Amino acid sequence: MDINRVHNAKCHCGAVELELTMPNGLEDPRRCSCSMCRKRGAIAASVLLENLKIVKGEDNLTLYQFNTMTARHYFCKTCGIYTHHQRRSNPHQFAINVACLEGVNPYDLEPVKIYDGIHHPKDSINL
Ligand SMILES: [Zn+2]
Repeated sequence: MDINRVHNAKCHCGAVELELTMPNGLEDPRRCSCSMCRKRGAIAASVLLENLKIVKGEDNLTLYQFNTMTARHYFCKTCGIYTHHQRRSNPHQFAINVACLEGVNPYDLEPVKIYDGIHHPKDSINL
């Protein structure tokens, strides 16, 4: 799979376009078992906040938050595709939808590791 140092990503309808700087290629691609991700089903990879630029359609994104209202999940208002979210587990990172990357077939990544998000570290009172 070819990941450029600067790689473009798009939602399905093309209203939203992201430019991602990924000096280490696809970082930590994973699924997550939290209540949100298990329904969404997307494989997410990590990029630092400063390495994600919305080049088109910022006003076409809608924000979804739940539970502690910390993570910020973004979706295209037109086609409904999840593009990225700011993580709760690491607020210095965005997770990006690998399936939105230009020229990338997410099924080529299988098997993908599953992050234990249903037992989120920030939900544990024993920490
Ligand atoms: Zn769209």
